[in-house]
Amino acid sequence: MRRVRSTNTTPERKVRSLLHCLGFRFRLQRKDLPGKPDIVLPKYSAVVFVHGCFWHRHPGCPRASTPATNQDYWLPKFKRTVKRDQKNQRILHQLGWNVIVVWECELRELDRLAERLTSAITISPVPYSQDLPAFQMAAESQERYQSSKK
Ligand code: ZN
Repeated sequence: MRRVRSTNTTPERKVRSLLHCLGFRFRLQRKDLPGKPDIVLPKYSAVVFVHGCFWHRHPGCPRASTPATNQDYWLPKFKRTVKRDQKNQRILHQLGWNVIVVWECELRELDRLAERLTSAITISPVPYSQDLPAFQMAAESQERYQSSKK
């Protein structure tokens, strides 16, 4: 058995229920994707990572402070994590996924996060699987989304 620890942590759950409230339907982790995104929205070719600010080094975030002691231990560890994240995101991009990172601290303002997620998920067109130019994608009517949702 692989470690189960990292799944179903509270922040991930919160993001899932938020997406659910917003009407998005998604799949949970897909282990075959690089970095195992926490949430996959196949319809939008979007993947969502819910990242802890500390471990994943949220830039400029107070929660991502570096411990004053044992820096020899922390710094390489942080570096590895950030590098791995960047690599996974780059590969996902190349595979045509729209990669969205939710930082743990964003969960304090759910309204704002809801807005950001909605635009991040829906605005970006799907360049690899659709021949439609972006403006046509954007012009797609709401009804069409609804009817194809089932
Ligand atoms: Zn943060």
